[in-house]
Amino acid sequence: MKKRIRELEDLLTRYNREYYELDEPSVPDSEYDRLFRELQALEQQHPELASPHSPTQKVGSKPLDKFEPVKHEVPMLSLDNAFSEDEFEAFSQRVQQRLDSSATIVYCCEPKLDGLAVSILYEQGQLVRAATRGDGYTGENITENVKTIRNVPLKLADGAPQKLEVRGEVFMPTAAFDALNERARQQDGKVFANPRNAAAGSLRQLDSRVTAKRPLHFYAYSLGLIDADAEQQLPASHYQRLQQLKQWGLPVSDEVKQANSVTACEAFFDDILARREQLKYEIDGIVYKVDSIALQQDLGFVARAPRWAIARKFPAQEQLTTITGVDFQV
Ligand code: NAD
Repeated sequence: MKKRIRELEDLLTRYNREYYELDEPSVPDSEYDRLFRELQALEQQHPELASPHSPTQKVGSKPLDKFEPVKHEVPMLSLDNAFSEDEFEAFSQRVQQRLDSSATIVYCCEPKLDGLAVSILYEQGQLVRAATRGDGYTGENITENVKTIRNVPLKLADGAPQKLEVRGEVFMPTAAFDALNERARQQDGKVFANPRNAAAGSLRQLDSRVTAKRPLHFYAYSLGLIDADAEQQLPASHYQRLQQLKQWGLPVSDEVKQANSVTACEAFFDDILARREQLKYEIDGIVYKVDSIALQQDLGFVARAPRWAIARKFPAQEQLTTITGVDFQV
């Protein structure tokens, strides 16, 4: 048992490095998720064998030295996953039990964009800094690169807080990704495994002129640091806060909706899954967040993820071409 646990730790550490540091995964996400779950289950069964440095306790990977480090005052965490309706229902029951409440919980339902998380800091309405998530505590300074993304405002509308950190996903729309890879094939350049890796590779460039040529897009999905006075003025609902971000000029996906029952959450999942192919960008699931900020605070966090949110993954659909030319079809 101990041997398998260490084996899984080593494998997942290697895959994390390939995925987060090199932007070159060698296995599909579904395979990674399967091994991650196996390790989680073994650690639960044998807590005495679990290492505090296990990949199940960590977010992302350490930032690359070639970028200036940025400390996240509010950590940028990951999300727990649910792979079935039953697992989502179990999550919602845990929420209800932890809050010791039988009241209806409203959820904010959001597409889970398949790109990479960034933090963008505005001071006096001006974009002053942008960073990757890194290991959740320290990210990489990519300010000049983020400034080249066309739908990221350099200046917010009047009325925005003096200090506002916005978090969201940078991704590459599917058509743009196909065109980029087609050009690369014709010119013997680097072909990216999928839009997520193309977005990550394009954003983590030392020369922002390279990033500027890449068709990246951004959607905001949460707030990080914000000045205390402004925080008091914000709506008490996560969904309403996203609408407020829109008014300050930040792009937010139009697909984001509130749902006031588990059934409504599941209907949202089915609807987006049915339209997955028609969306202009890749998503790998739905993120459900307890909508009330007060309840989010009551629920808090565990090691690497909030207790008030979960990502329900879509069935795997990926096709990954590795540098060795092996195709994975899942
Ligand atoms: P995650 O992708 O499961 O969930 C957290 C991330 O979701 C956030 O950091 C954010 O970037 C993103 N996100 C997208 N839309 C969001 C929204 N609306 N609200 C909040 N967050 C949103 O977690 P992770 O820690 O980034 O990555 C783990 C996953 O990455 C694994 O489950 C696996 O699928 C993949 N992975 C694959 C490999 C590999 O080798 N193939 C290696 C490491 C990780």
